[in-house]
Amino acid sequence: MPKKLTARPLRDDEVHFDVWGCRGSRNLLPRRSSIGNHTSCYSVTTATDAFVFDAGRGLAAFGHALMTEPRFSTVRRVHVLITHAHMDHWEGLKDADWFWRRGNGLEVRLYGTAEAIGGIRAGYAHPLYVPLDLLAMGTVARLEYVTISAEEKRTIGSFSLRTSPLNHYSGSGDNRRFLDTAGFRLAVRKGPTVAYLSDHEPHAGTAETERKLITGAHLAVYDSHFPDIKQQMHGHGSQEHASNVARAHPGVLVLAGHHAPSLSDQDIRATWRRHGKGAPNFQLAIEGRTYAFDRARGAFSLLAG
Ligand SMILES: [Zn+2]
Ligand SMILES: [Zn+2]
Repeated sequence: MPKKLTARPLRDDEVHFDVWGCRGSRNLLPRRSSIGNHTSCYSVTTATDAFVFDAGRGLAAFGHALMTEPRFSTVRRVHVLITHAHMDHWEGLKDADWFWRRGNGLEVRLYGTAEAIGGIRAGYAHPLYVPLDLLAMGTVARLEYVTISAEEKRTIGSFSLRTSPLNHYSGSGDNRRFLDTAGFRLAVRKGPTVAYLSDHEPHAGTAETERKLITGAHLAVYDSHFPDIKQQMHGHGSQEHASNVARAHPGVLVLAGHHAPSLSDQDIRATWRRHGKGAPNFQLAIEGRTYAFDRARGAFSLLAG
């Protein structure tokens, strides 16, 4: 049975991984799923820093938790890593508590490709909304945009980040438009490594990129929009592919995310049972779940949810 979350700040040697939004493309409102209702958002948190993978509507849940849960009370820096320009991966930014609470002292950095950062700035520009720079005045201590490339390595404090380009596009046939999409591999110094590959449609030509991102990682989130490989389209992957990855990398806890909004909980769980046979390290991403890194085992364990 998962333990309850502790009512104290994370210690220096503790790392949590949380699922805040695991629904693909659109939100399910009103809430109608016990798996995921909100668009993409996941976090890796230490005592001082939070790294967020994508800023979908799940970011509203994370932003609130960051301000209210004791385990996050010593976090001072938030690094939001945005994979690509699609709105379902940044629509949650305006709902983050840190843009609405005066003098909260957080340092917030948004990382994305030039295309993604340009899309976000345009999406929040007057008169579509209020520019994030304006929301940042008098609330956060700092808001910074950091343009990254889809293929690079950089050090951020005691973390190292590697990006690799994912295969993601909208439409099909003549309407197919590719997006400059970055997959992430985040390593916590003297701690776990977490990989994030979404949105992504895998094929034989992407195997090497995927291998670079996930080999030796402790946890990896995979775009598993569709049940089966043969259904893969529109730049999205499948539970079948993610489960194959889990079988090939038994040391990596592979979480299937970006669940298609057309699928019921029953469909998603039935697919997971079908493809998860013989892969105990293949699990569904489920909102509200918290995993803690267990240093003795060198693996993430489910803590709550
Ligand atoms: Zn998406
Ligand atoms: Zn997308």
